[in-house]
Amino acid sequence: LNSFFDLLYPSKCAICRGLDDQSPCERCRSKLIRENFCFSAPVAYIDEVRAVYRYSETALYVKALKFHRETSLVEFMSEEIARIFNNHYDEMDAIIPVPIHRSRLCWRGFNQAQLLCEKLPANLVKSLRLKIRRTPPQARLDPEARIKNLEGAFRCDESVYGKRILLIDDVYTSGSTASECARALKAAGASYVAMIVFAATPYTVSS
Ligand SMILES: [Zn+2]
Repeated sequence: LNSFFDLLYPSKCAICRGLDDQSPCERCRSKLIRENFCFSAPVAYIDEVRAVYRYSETALYVKALKFHRETSLVEFMSEEIARIFNNHYDEMDAIIPVPIHRSRLCWRGFNQAQLLCEKLPANLVKSLRLKIRRTPPQARLDPEARIKNLEGAFRCDESVYGKRILLIDDVYTSGSTASECARALKAAGASYVAMIVFAATPYTVSS
């Protein structure tokens, strides 16, 4: 039956749409430059952020997964995040995918941050319900409005006291979502909050 469906719907690369068993295909992978950059305390409450790629190079990946539900990319993207985890963060106490509001979860069918934890140690991944009220989509707002929009949007309802927390998300841009999430964790006693993202914008690079 599988091979019958393979004939009807042959596998495609989610990025170039070329026929391929792998998504992204080898050609698309070879075009990527792994930057693996780190910013130290880029915004309040976050101690450090590490990104695998520049957002300008990988926006197609982020958008394909989030807006076109190209979950064929999850394996590749989560492997890239796991590589950073294994090299830098394997001593963290807990891993938290940045939550999204339930209504957005219903619409999309998944939380992309949760999917990107696929290759991380399952016993460390905690699914905290942090988002307590709906906020307008961040993309339409300027940075100042973004921060106002998120105030009090996250609440930590599990014990993180004294723990080193690793946040996971697909993309880091203004950092306002990450900062507000980390604020809730720090208020609950988290001792350190780091973050791994698949992609980040270069203007936020401080080191
Ligand atoms: Zn391709």
